[in-house]
Amino acid sequence: MTIPWRATVLSIFPEIFPGPLGVSLAGKALSSSVWSLQTLDIRGFATDKHSTVDDTPAGGGPGMVMKADVLARAIDAVATDGRPHLLMSPRGVPLTQARVEALSKGEGVVVLCGRYEGIDERLIAARGLEEISIGDYVLSGGEIAACALIDACVRLLPGVVGKEASFAEESFTDGLLEYPQYTRPAVFEGHTIPEVLTGGDHAKVAAWRRAEAERLTRERRPDLWAKYLTRQKGTKP
Ligand code: SAH
Repeated sequence: MTIPWRATVLSIFPEIFPGPLGVSLAGKALSSSVWSLQTLDIRGFATDKHSTVDDTPAGGGPGMVMKADVLARAIDAVATDGRPHLLMSPRGVPLTQARVEALSKGEGVVVLCGRYEGIDERLIAARGLEEISIGDYVLSGGEIAACALIDACVRLLPGVVGKEASFAEESFTDGLLEYPQYTRPAVFEGHTIPEVLTGGDHAKVAAWRRAEAERLTRERRPDLWAKYLTRQKGTKP
């Protein structure tokens, strides 16, 4: 049997997990041990009788900061292996499909979820945490971000999503957004399915999808479109 891809999540709210990761494709893959999930309650690593995990920010200001000593003990309790240690953080490098693909090809991830105003800066350097953001907005905790990251990785594991071929044309995989999808009924509120998709000419379907993917990317994501054009130039003589 192959070793499952392993996710270890450190959180003060471990009860959030598996949450959305326990249903549908990710959930089935979890029950059939394609991947495994371990949660560690950070509070269990506090040493005082109130199980304190946070304290007031040095220099003043609102909110609380998670304590470096408690977090260090929690991280050090995770067996050292090849897995990257990630910190979900709005200041992190934005997560991309390329990074997700790389992570899913590895042994798994160790993910630290922040809460309150964040965590003591010294811990990030001391444990070499890689900060990852899931977008330019602020969540109240890292747990939802961790779910997003793990879900994106798990669906790429072999056997989780039916046909692996379905990834090839997916949004971001080739640098483009995905083309529009349709299914029955043939007429919905007076709108028909584009004729080319029901004509049975596979080459025409592929050309239409490519053109639509390019149009959508150009219209909606000028940033991706610019990168795509640069790459096209690089690959064509
Ligand atoms: N004061 C911080 C925000 C803390 S939000 C700041 O201004 O940068 C609390 C926790 O939620 C963070 O420690 C992080 O773990 C998580 N979080 C919030 N937004 C996130 C995002 N966009 N991506 C990843 N994690 C996020």
